[in-house]
Amino acid sequence: MEKREEIYRGKAKTVFATNDADKLILYFRDDTSMLDGQKIEQLERKGEINNRFNAFIMQKLEDANIPTQFDTLLSTNESIVKKLQMIPVECVVRNYAAGSLVRRLGVEEGVALEPPIFELFLKNDKLHDPIINESVAITFRWASLEQLTRMKELALQVNEVLTKLFDKAGLILVDFKLEFGLFHGEIVLGDEFSPDGARLWDKETHKKLDKDRFRQGLGEVVEGYIEVANRLGVPL
Ligand code: ADP
Ligand code: UDP
Repeated sequence: MEKREEIYRGKAKTVFATNDADKLILYFRDDTSMLDGQKIEQLERKGEINNRFNAFIMQKLEDANIPTQFDTLLSTNESIVKKLQMIPVECVVRNYAAGSLVRRLGVEEGVALEPPIFELFLKNDKLHDPIINESVAITFRWASLEQLTRMKELALQVNEVLTKLFDKAGLILVDFKLEFGLFHGEIVLGDEFSPDGARLWDKETHKKLDKDRFRQGLGEVVEGYIEVANRLGVPL
């Protein structure tokens, strides 16, 4: 596999083309952002940990027959993935109330959500990722009804698999964000699954071990990610 030109530099990852038209290299940087990129900091080792964490989780999802982008762990900070035509809609699954749901609906943080809530947001930093629904996404041709139905089905399957996996590691999967794309017409899970895009709490103490440590200035951000990785058995 030959690495070619940089094709996109996002807030946390850089995307490189390869000599294979169907493959990309994702480079996980140490950059950590909040407020849609208004605040950015470098957190030493974060890129490496998220790269290894993502590879571990994507493989668990593949084992559960969920189609993912994942191909190969290439180096400390890089993975080879399928090149997807990304759908500009973020899918969020919530098992407990936190974050924007608490702010929007005034519910108490930590309230159990049964059945889990599934939400859609437009991926657009300038507009601060506004909440949307299926009707909006269909009208603006961001995704078809069939694609949205599949995305929801897969997101809820991911939730089933990962809730159990994290529970066994003494962790609560509070909520998470997924991005999907098309690979030769099929809906496939893309982007990443890491503590940057999920809320993970210790089961007993409810200590936050995810990006909320950065957002809320709690310190020991990467230490939190490492603790989660160690508990899951992610090789670091
Ligand atoms: P952002 O764009 O939100 O700042 P990142 O820094 O994570 O996010 O950049 C990674 C970019 O690569 C995102 O825009 C994401 O949608 C895109 N991406 C992730 N996985 C794939 C993939 N498999 N194929 C094509 N694009 C992808
Ligand atoms: N999330 C994300 N990227 C975003 C917005 C949210 O990865 O652009 C994740 C976030 O880490 C959390 C979940 O999606 O695990 C739900 O986020 P929420 O809507 O509560 O927004 P936030 O409070 O993070 O702004």
